[in-house]
Amino acid sequence: MIRSSNEKKTKRRWYPLERTSDVIVVGAGIVGAVLAYLLAHSGRSVRMLDRGLPGGEASGARAGLLTTVAEGSGKGPYLDLSVQGLVEMRTIIQQLEDETGIDCWLECHPLYRIATNEQERDMMFALYQERRQLGGQEDWLEPEQVRREQPLFSPRITGAMRSPQEYHVTPGLLLKAVLQAARQRGVIVQENTAVTAFLTEGHRVIGVAAGMEHYYADHVILANGAWSPNLLKLVGIDLPVTPLRGQMLVVSLSGFNLPCLINTARGYLVPKKDGRIVVGATQEHAGYAKEITVAGISHLLKVLSAVPALVQARIHDTFVGLRPMSSDGMPLIGPLPGWEGLHVATGHAQHGILLSGITGRMMTAYLNGEDPGELWRHFQVQRVLTCKAETEV
Ligand SMILES: Cc1cc2nc3c(=O)[nH]c(=O)nc-3n(C[C@H](O)[C@H](O)[C@H](O)COP(=O)(O)OP(=O)(O)OC[C@H]3O[C@@H](n4cnc5c(N)ncnc54)[C@H](O)[C@@H]3O)c2cc1C
Repeated sequence: MIRSSNEKKTKRRWYPLERTSDVIVVGAGIVGAVLAYLLAHSGRSVRMLDRGLPGGEASGARAGLLTTVAEGSGKGPYLDLSVQGLVEMRTIIQQLEDETGIDCWLECHPLYRIATNEQERDMMFALYQERRQLGGQEDWLEPEQVRREQPLFSPRITGAMRSPQEYHVTPGLLLKAVLQAARQRGVIVQENTAVTAFLTEGHRVIGVAAGMEHYYADHVILANGAWSPNLLKLVGIDLPVTPLRGQMLVVSLSGFNLPCLINTARGYLVPKKDGRIVVGATQEHAGYAKEITVAGISHLLKVLSAVPALVQARIHDTFVGLRPMSSDGMPLIGPLPGWEGLHVATGHAQHGILLSGITGRMMTAYLNGEDPGELWRHFQVQRVLTCKAETEV
């Protein structure tokens, strides 16, 4: 038995040692797993609970793009976060590979953002000009230049923006590495353990319940993705996060290697080291229905038509996941107002793989009493709770 570290603030209590840690992380997707690893790396004892298998939800998505361009990170703090996110992820992946010997398939390819009609061309060209003004390295290619460089592309292309190099990783391997490294640093990972309630003393959260089992900690961090609002309702917080469904395909064609990343108005193609190509992804508001649909596949086949040869490709796999989408589309990172010891790291929508490292760094710094950085204030939770209250008046 040890005494809780918050004894000065609350009634003196004793909790069973084997059920007590500095931090409990709820959810072992990429956001929770990287956070648990970084906290343990900083010397904190961590227990991570997942109601299913680690990485079994959105974080199992196959593409793993680490690009700040492909799905439009916008301008301002979100773009800055994604730029810092890439730096963090490259560092963390290197560290994980060194610690575990697992190759996460971090790769780098040129990216072509292609337009296939005049309207898309105008939008793409405007984006190109914006990126150049922000100091980006992109080039603009007219249709004949695209055809010369990439004869595999559809002849219907009306223009393209080319980034010289963009990174991507294979999320399944990244998760394997981060979970192994986390365990090596003492993180207790409990799968098939659904958190069902919070343990509270006054306005302090002192742990969680998973059915009849109780676990105690100074800090509880919700990193349970699209399901975060469901738990927060239990403590009277209405977190505006909803599931954004994404479907994808994995294909390959014998003797064919895609030499670049492609982004169209509908989605993207990502070549992987084993020759397979990930085709993603739909963005659908369909509640919690995790289903592969005819409409979804038909959407992905249109993405695939950017490279006509791929109509002959073999389909290896399909994937569907629910991205956690906040009401303003940006992540929610930090303490929850009104409750001591309760925090959230969610709402990463289309960029959770890219942003898991910077999110983990910010939360770790904050919990350790260090400076989480200037950017952090833009991503705290209060902003969406206030917005909601205002719209309800
Ligand atoms: C098709 C698709 C393609 C994508 N492509 C990219 C990409 O290229 N690049 C990129 O950066 N991002 C991409 N994303 C987004 C990225 O996958 C997500 O933002 C990220 O996975 C979110 O991670 P998470 O850990 O917050 O959530 P999740 O991975 O959903 O993890 C949440 C975990 O919480 C657990 N959980 C839920 N409730 C409870 C409970 N009560 N108790 C315990 N555990 C619980 C779940 O079992 C789950 O394991 C893509 C997403 C999809 C769907």
